[in-house]
Amino acid sequence: MKPSAMHTRVAILGSGPAGLTAALYTARANLRPIVIGGVPAGGQLMITNEVENYPGFPEGIQGPDLIDLFRKQAERFGTRILDDNVSRLDVTKRPFHLFTAGGTEIVADAVIVATGAQAKWLNVPGEEKLRGHGVSACATCDGFFFKGKELIVAGGGDTAMEEATFLTKFASKVTVVHRRDTLRASRIMSERARKNPKIHFLWNSAIEEVLGEGSVTGVRVRDTRTGEVRVVPCGGVFVAIGHEPTTALFRGMLELDATGYLKTTEHTRTTVPGLFAAGDVQDHRYRQAVTAAGMGCMAAIDTERWLAEEGLEGPAEEGAGSPATVPEHGASDGSISRAKSAVASEAKG
Ligand code: NDP
Repeated sequence: MKPSAMHTRVAILGSGPAGLTAALYTARANLRPIVIGGVPAGGQLMITNEVENYPGFPEGIQGPDLIDLFRKQAERFGTRILDDNVSRLDVTKRPFHLFTAGGTEIVADAVIVATGAQAKWLNVPGEEKLRGHGVSACATCDGFFFKGKELIVAGGGDTAMEEATFLTKFASKVTVVHRRDTLRASRIMSERARKNPKIHFLWNSAIEEVLGEGSVTGVRVRDTRTGEVRVVPCGGVFVAIGHEPTTALFRGMLELDATGYLKTTEHTRTTVPGLFAAGDVQDHRYRQAVTAAGMGCMAAIDTERWLAEEGLEGPAEEGAGSPATVPEHGASDGSISRAKSAVASEAKG
């Protein structure tokens, strides 16, 4: 352990609704959590415009504004936020060791993983190059820019139906391109899309390339049964093929399910004692800001109880004189307070 490593009772990975709610609750439980927020911070709400379904905001609120409020509320009770990514984590022994890309080492008695999920991409030629220039994974964020255009939505699940239906507010025509001839989406969402006169379906079709220079002009589509390839002109492509949890860091360390989500055992506990998970990183069913926040609260309460069971109560600094913490964390040489100031200045920068 580096002499500059700092010790905290609770490190929280991720600064979306789950991470910041876990921070709020653990801070109010006097555990002085450190949030390693990730870069970019804030999660999926940062790329969401209007959030109309978060309770307490009858007029709706912009996603980034909501995150800003979460952050301020967590900080008000003593949460320290580090805008950095965790690049390595050692959970083979306790306390856990976390290493950030920016070179900070954190020693934590408990860890709450709230790293969220990200939209999946098709990974076909042209897609990445045209991201932000007609290729998007967020209709609510970008739909407005496609007024009067013909659009493609890739996917056959609920997200694709929702995105397609939303996009008809702006687009002249929306074509859902699906690789099979049956939708995965729920009946209600499928029917709503099928009944919409602006929505068309291209079945058994896989997008092989997004075409355009500087902006999207079309997609090259292959018929998955016949192999026939054709070009479908369009002014934008919305990829809605599901989400991928941010769990690469934990592979081989924590148990993941078949689709890569973190497995929790009892409520928010993972397979490693002292390591908890909350939000989209472990939830592929609800995936809402409010459910993520709720799980962040659950993880905080579970963490607090687990720490109490382990005899680790109060903020880490206060335990510096105890034999359990001094030799391991080097608190007696003032390293914690030095490291804390480093975090504070990094967070401000
Ligand atoms: P799903 O995993 O349910 O669906 C993904 C869709 O994308 C499937 O049709 C799949 O095809 C297709 N797909 C996946 N990978 C590729 C690929 N590489 N190329 C082409 N197509 C691909 O994800 P969703 O995001 O739609 O939904 C996730 C969860 O969220 C679900 O439980 C859903 O019910 C829920 N949800 C609920 C909503 C609501 O109730 N309002 C709104 C949005 C989501 P295939 O079918 O062949 O596998």
